[in-house]
Amino acid sequence: MGKPFEKTMEMVNGLAKPALELFKTMDDEDAKLFIIRLNDSIGRLEEIAAAITHQNQKVALFEFGLTPQLFYAFDCVPLCMETFPMLFTANRKEVFYEFIEAAEAAGLPSDVCSTDRCIVGAALSGEFPTNSFFVASSAPCDGTRIAYPIMKKALKVPTLFLEAPYTYEKEAAHWYGQQIKTDLIPFLEAVTGKKFDIDRFREIIEESNKAYELMLDIFDAYTVKPSPIPASISGFPYASFIASAGHPRNTESTRLFHDEVMRRVKDDIQNPFEEKHRVLWCHVQPTFDGEFFKWMEEKLGATVVTSMLSSSPILLPIDTTDIDTMLEGYAWQGLDMTMSIMRFDTNKLLEFTMKAYHQYRCDCVIVTQHVGCNSICGAAGLMRRYFHDEGVPALFIELDYNDDRVLSSEPLREQVEDFFTTIMA
Ligand code: SF4
Repeated sequence: MGKPFEKTMEMVNGLAKPALELFKTMDDEDAKLFIIRLNDSIGRLEEIAAAITHQNQKVALFEFGLTPQLFYAFDCVPLCMETFPMLFTANRKEVFYEFIEAAEAAGLPSDVCSTDRCIVGAALSGEFPTNSFFVASSAPCDGTRIAYPIMKKALKVPTLFLEAPYTYEKEAAHWYGQQIKTDLIPFLEAVTGKKFDIDRFREIIEESNKAYELMLDIFDAYTVKPSPIPASISGFPYASFIASAGHPRNTESTRLFHDEVMRRVKDDIQNPFEEKHRVLWCHVQPTFDGEFFKWMEEKLGATVVTSMLSSSPILLPIDTTDIDTMLEGYAWQGLDMTMSIMRFDTNKLLEFTMKAYHQYRCDCVIVTQHVGCNSICGAAGLMRRYFHDEGVPALFIELDYNDDRVLSSEPLREQVEDFFTTIMA
């Protein structure tokens, strides 16, 4: 049994920090963007590591379906569990495999989503702190509904399960927001021993609104053709927001990233390859191959300009008028910005996908059929027929987005290359 956050900090100190120092020595346009991303992640992970050593501080282990602002309002340090496996899948694969194997050895079936198997294995291996609590939601999927009760038992920490709505409208967000009011806020008061302070919550929401607006501006810049930045770094504003919305570090990192993207658009600085294709990536991207998007751009001239899961359908900051508007907006943002989008019915999913397809001026779609994800695999037939009827070139790839032992980089690249050199030629 390891110590909490031991493997995570080994990765931070052994890989992320040396990579940051290396980027600082590089005279390269893209290095600036990677420095912003690394500073942001290192700062966030060090903050969690520091909180673990203070028993009177709480670490909020939360699931997709929420964003972090409310946890900051109770002075907790948040860790979005579904982003955790990606810390290891590309650069410390042996740690990821170790966590997966720990979950399977404890009886979790291998057809459960690898995200959930990895976090369960990490919990069973002692990687998560016990001065913590879980907040989980019934969205997006079966896998998370299996994982959290097991982790609750392993860590023996307070846990709250929220019921996510099945529909997408504002009324559904209002209903979820009221549940946050009646269930989540009292839960947080009980686990932290602090009273809810609406002014503090408003302050944090206002902070996150600044980052949100900058992020929307950045997303708009991605509609510029050719794309102003490489695909491998374009998801940073979204990832940082999901992990730390409401923290001034998130706002500052997003502002720096925003300024750099806008400078590139203004000065017409382009990527050093010919952009022949603009790709919409539907569902999860392979996280096990850190060079994959670079390879797509350099070898095939294909840039992933938007991804269905790292974008935002509602495009509205949170209304801070009163507690109900704040909770409704907060609820909607949580449901909107993460894999909770997978609770969309297939028609809604396609409507959102096609809106992004046209907005970002794409000419093809890649859909990943992530094994273990019933949501996307179940929608495959309808999506395939829809794209065919609409004349949208679409490649469907079956893989595990975290685990290269299901489909490794080489056959993945072969499938993608075949698509761009035949259908898209
Ligand atoms: S990929 Fe699918 S199964 Fe895995 S966490 Fe996301 S929605 Fe759930």
